[in-house]
Amino acid sequence: MDEIMKTLAEPFRIKMVEPIRMTTGEYRKVALARAGYNPFLLSSDDVFIDLLTDSGTGAMSQAQWAGMMMGDESYAGARSWQALEREVRDLTGMPHVLPTHQGRAAERILYGLIGGPDKVFISNTHFDTTRANIEFTGAEALDLMPAEAFDHTADLPFKGNIDLDLAEKTILEKGPHRIAACVLTVTNNSSGGQPVSMANARGLRALCDRYGIMLVIDGCRIAENSYFVRHREEGFASRDYRSIAQEMLAMGDAFVMSAKKDGMVNMGGLLCLRDEDLSRKCINQLIISEGYTTYGGLSGRDMEAIAVGLREVFDPDYLHYRIRSTAYLGEGLRSRGVPVIWPIGGHAVYIDAHRLFPEIPVHEYPGLVLATQLYERGGIRSVEVGSVMFGKYDASGELIPARQELVRLAIPRRVYTQSHIDFVLEVFEHMLRAPSPKRGFRIVYEPPFLRHFTAHFEPIVE
Ligand SMILES: *Cc1c(COP(=O)(O)O)cnc(C)c1O
Repeated sequence: MDEIMKTLAEPFRIKMVEPIRMTTGEYRKVALARAGYNPFLLSSDDVFIDLLTDSGTGAMSQAQWAGMMMGDESYAGARSWQALEREVRDLTGMPHVLPTHQGRAAERILYGLIGGPDKVFISNTHFDTTRANIEFTGAEALDLMPAEAFDHTADLPFKGNIDLDLAEKTILEKGPHRIAACVLTVTNNSSGGQPVSMANARGLRALCDRYGIMLVIDGCRIAENSYFVRHREEGFASRDYRSIAQEMLAMGDAFVMSAKKDGMVNMGGLLCLRDEDLSRKCINQLIISEGYTTYGGLSGRDMEAIAVGLREVFDPDYLHYRIRSTAYLGEGLRSRGVPVIWPIGGHAVYIDAHRLFPEIPVHEYPGLVLATQLYERGGIRSVEVGSVMFGKYDASGELIPARQELVRLAIPRRVYTQSHIDFVLEVFEHMLRAPSPKRGFRIVYEPPFLRHFTAHFEPIVE
């Protein structure tokens, strides 16, 4: 579209609508109390704008829905499988393609085989399911980001990069034979959806070659990353997005993908490999736990939809809308004085709740205060990424807080329009005009693991 236009019009029109319910503030207060002040425990019917995650929450296109009608549900050698395999081989250049029901299944299979006690994995940042699957084998997972990546205000183009010097130092310290793999997460989900540059991927490939280490690309958001490469990295301005993704994936020995992100579907995953031997071992695991090699836990119609989604996601109009609409929310918040992690990443906006509500002590969970305020004021669901999620206790029961108190607003693909996002911005305006909250929450129930999903809270009142 012409560059002079400022309005970010969506490059699609709506053919089928899903009603969402408008509720009153009174109603939401009750709903929130009933949910123990934990947004995960809200019924989605009570949420107006759901920014909990971008995973599996996107809208499929007419071409994907049409593909679903053409799904071939044969147990073995289905046409839909062949369509997916063709598409993924062409994208990755990898000969061995294994379908899985979602990303973590691919991770469990691969890391279960190459991990184990005494092994070490190094990454820009291991996503939490990646870390869990690696640590479950007894291996160690190290995140190696350069220091500047933690500066929330430094305006750098590729804050998702791995620190190559630190990576080499770690390889030498641990011993190259102990490094099971380098995992490059693209974009870097846990670090704000920040992109990884082609130069950084190339550098990591060279390092892996030098020490004979396997390179795994965790590329759930490889298309979003390609957008950033084209617009921020020297030499890519005239390249199409898909060829940029192909160039990066060509550097990997393996590719793991949750299709719930840039696969543009609600469920699905992929594991792709170059090595025949390793792929045979993975296939054995796949058949034991996921399903036969030509469906791996997916219906034929699901595979058809992924095949179409993986092509659509590289459409320039879509990608521009996708990245710009996330930035629109982030820039809008920043211009209203909300401290956001800068620059804005591809799939989500992260707010520094500790800086937004400096009077709330960390052990009263400022991130949860922001998340509950957004829900009460506007029916917006977000997720705390701070001490509720990552906090631990010391021997005396004192909270060891997380490194930062963030709230994530993740944007589902092709779901909300600009007026929904304007509504979110207006909710923030109302919140900023009100007196700043001073007290937070205490936990009244928590399970031993992954407490953020099911914990109950109560407001602290003086
Ligand atoms: C979502 C995600 C995964 C896990 O995929 P699931 O489909 O949720 O199992 C792995 N890595 C990254 C970077 C992700 O964003």
